[in-house]
Amino acid sequence: MAKQALGNLPRHNPCAQCGKPIVAPDWVESSPGRTSYLWCCEACGYRFEAVAYFAESKSEPEPIAA
Ligand SMILES: [Zn+2]
Repeated sequence: MAKQALGNLPRHNPCAQCGKPIVAPDWVESSPGRTSYLWCCEACGYRFEAVAYFAESKSEPEPIAA
């Protein structure tokens, strides 16, 4: 069983249009301090993006550890 690289994927997010729960995001993009999730509703075909922000990130970009 493969482990998810992203620890806490949101699940069963309600569709912004029809309110039906969507099992998992269709696509995830991670940036420092935030993660974007693209949700596609199977019931009505509506697509929308939700962005999660993380307070731990400062305004400056973090140095990349080699
Ligand atoms: Zn929907």
